[in-house]
Amino acid sequence: MRTVIKGGTIVTADGSELADVLVEDESIVAIAASGEHSWEEGADSVIDAVGKYIIPGAIDVHTHFELPFGGTFVSDSFESGTRSAAHGGTTTIVDFAVQVKGETVREGFDNWMAKADGNCAIDYGFHMIVGDINEGSLKEMEAIVDDGVTSFKLFMAYPGVLYSDDGEIFRAMQQASRDGTTIMMHAENGIAIDVLREQAVARGETDPKYHTITRPPKTESEAVHRALTLAELAGCPIYIVHMSAKEGVMELTKARDRGQNAFGETCPHYLHLSVEDDIDVPGFEGAKYVCSTPIRFREEGHQEYLWNALARGDLQVVSTDHACFFYDDDETMGRQKRLGEGNFTLIPNGLPGVEERLNVMYQSGVVEGRFSLNRWVDLCATSPAKMFGLYPKKGTIAVGSDADIVVFDPNASFTYGTDTIHGNIDYTAYDGMEISGSPVVVMSRGKVIIDGGRYVGSKGDGRYLKRGLSQMLI
Ligand SMILES: [Zn+2]
Repeated sequence: MRTVIKGGTIVTADGSELADVLVEDESIVAIAASGEHSWEEGADSVIDAVGKYIIPGAIDVHTHFELPFGGTFVSDSFESGTRSAAHGGTTTIVDFAVQVKGETVREGFDNWMAKADGNCAIDYGFHMIVGDINEGSLKEMEAIVDDGVTSFKLFMAYPGVLYSDDGEIFRAMQQASRDGTTIMMHAENGIAIDVLREQAVARGETDPKYHTITRPPKTESEAVHRALTLAELAGCPIYIVHMSAKEGVMELTKARDRGQNAFGETCPHYLHLSVEDDIDVPGFEGAKYVCSTPIRFREEGHQEYLWNALARGDLQVVSTDHACFFYDDDETMGRQKRLGEGNFTLIPNGLPGVEERLNVMYQSGVVEGRFSLNRWVDLCATSPAKMFGLYPKKGTIAVGSDADIVVFDPNASFTYGTDTIHGNIDYTAYDGMEISGSPVVVMSRGKVIIDGGRYVGSKGDGRYLKRGLSQMLI
């Protein structure tokens, strides 16, 4: 099977050039200027990309499909979630397999492999959430590297659920240091937060905005600082997930300036939503955007700080932390966000975004002049691939890379609404946002799966990816 993508501008993290791409079976086999080849003779198909960008398929290294949380489940399955990712130009996800207390790491991994197997529209890998750190699970962290799991997520938040104390965290970090693997941290001081939550509820402060008020920026930055210090002591690479407070990013920057292997991501919702505009609103609508770390107050100046950190390289990745729950009661999923009506502590945490990320970052990042086209590709595809051991198979347009390719039309335009998204969810965080640019063709390992906005792939196209060690280390 030979496909020629003709007339477009190839955009990678390193540069842009007008050139054609030859795809044979699952891989990119040649790149050349239009006049310098005759690939169309004998090609099975030719994709016209004149006036369009040819970019690597986007990579979302932080999704949660079918995750149990707060008495319910994330409403997107691996099938619906990866299909909606494909619509948005994302061709690889790295989701989180979970080891809960009393279970082995292997059991958790096998459970998640079974959920994904045969259901995904795009390629997928797993990080491992280690929820029960003991002698056995530390040994398993080493063994599971052979299965392509090279990153382990720990929680300083959610006491009694996924929480690990500093001693457990430090032991896991020492293990990661021995194996060369990466620790991913949910950095919030869950113990202090639980005190604030209890006190707020006792005062009758139960609206969604109190979710943010009881998780002030210092509960994030204190945990970021502690995590970075413990990782430095243990000598392991550390990646802080979903950073939303500028004070936390300042801690990360200091660690990087010291030469520490420390990295961070933020998510599009922290760059676009605020308590003032989206959470402290009449009725219960604010519950849609309750997530942890929380959406922050606009007046505190986090958003511009995060944008600048992305542009100057202090933050390395944009992911989504996609974890969606229906706002209105759903026939199949039942009550989800509305479980927390009258008590914000019962609102399931999370929101959708896997489909919107690439477009929203193009609009607000590139079109609005915050960073270059190349930095956009870097943040959404290349750095995620390098960070989690998928490069250069994934994350770039190069000879020998998988043919995960998005033909992106910068002149397309649409407005976000519930009718423009494809996941199993009843809202988008970007409702009413006018978008320029959109993926028109999405190819996953040489097979076109989105054509002119239509999904033409099939369930089970996606393959499990064994990942290597991080390629971002200094
Ligand atoms: Zn998450």
